[in-house]
Amino acid sequence: MKNLFVQFYTHYKHQSKYDLFNGFSDTWDLCKSKGDMIWISWDWQDENIPELNLPFSKGTVYISCFFENHVDAAYKWSEEYPSVDFVIGGPGVIFNEIQSRDNIEYFRCTVEEYFGVNNFSYEWKLEIPQEIENVNMDILRYNYGIKATCYWNKCSYCRLSLVESKRVRPLHNFKNSFKKISRAKEEIIIFYNPSITPDMFKDFLVPLELDESMKIRIYTRPDKKTYMACKTFFPLIKSLHKINFSIAPEFLSQRMLDFMNKGTTIETVTDIIKLYNEYDVEYEVNFIVGWPNLTENDLVHMQNNMSMFTKDILINLFLLKISSEGMGFSSIFPPPDGKRWSPIDECSEETISLNIKLHEKVKIFPNSLR
Ligand code: SF4
Repeated sequence: MKNLFVQFYTHYKHQSKYDLFNGFSDTWDLCKSKGDMIWISWDWQDENIPELNLPFSKGTVYISCFFENHVDAAYKWSEEYPSVDFVIGGPGVIFNEIQSRDNIEYFRCTVEEYFGVNNFSYEWKLEIPQEIENVNMDILRYNYGIKATCYWNKCSYCRLSLVESKRVRPLHNFKNSFKKISRAKEEIIIFYNPSITPDMFKDFLVPLELDESMKIRIYTRPDKKTYMACKTFFPLIKSLHKINFSIAPEFLSQRMLDFMNKGTTIETVTDIIKLYNEYDVEYEVNFIVGWPNLTENDLVHMQNNMSMFTKDILINLFLLKISSEGMGFSSIFPPPDGKRWSPIDECSEETISLNIKLHEKVKIFPNSLR
């Protein structure tokens, strides 16, 4: 009987940039003690499912699925190997109801819980895919999940609220010193947590130590708690210049913030951005397009409020449908069951054209890098 752990990674076309998607990254040594590990290279936007060549005809394959199309791959492979058991977990599974099959077990708990050990009881000893070990890449990114829950959990479009209770993974005894695992010019660890709490600022970020050319990315909520945490702890964080703060106001008009139940105000978002600028921290801002209820006035507010960004920043644009239903192009997911909110389907001709204008306005924002 054999065990095999499968994890996906992406090499972005035309760039020397690699992404190792999360899943077994922060339980790598636990999994390795249970079986063999393999990486499969797959651009998540590529619809062609890669081959899985199993070295055994009986055994168990554990698959970490970040995107829905990873689940699609697992589903296809389980058909090709009917006498092998497939155990499938990760964000691609947690968020969705999926078709079942006799040789598939979906696990929606943590890897540690699955194997009956304490959460975070193993070291983070991720190894990169052998074939890229000696590549002089520009950027390597990988995720370590540090808690995977949101203390707000009330934004009306957010899928996390549907699965909150299944994703709580409190981290104690944070490992605060990180060594590089690649030859990348820049190695970025994404501390996966939808919204870092003030306690995490104190416990994780203040004592953080990183090797040269390493960076951390964390997700922060654009609210008062975050503002207070930044104000209190920025002066104490010695690796502040190595942290990229990802913040998601999603839209910059108060009417829209209220509409999506974001739990914040334009003033608070502005205060946080001012602090970022004052401390010269690196940050990226996330917005959503695809709203069913936009007005010309919202766009005016959005444009005026963009002036809070006074330096080069990275802006990410997400489609509302993706935020509320997920990424991927899998055919094995049933249609939305009514619990999910995907109002892009409700957009009128007029709101579609306003969303296109919004997209153009954000895109031409002079300081944004993309
Ligand atoms: S969108 Fe972000 S802040 Fe809002 S509930 Fe989801 S994770 Fe929390």
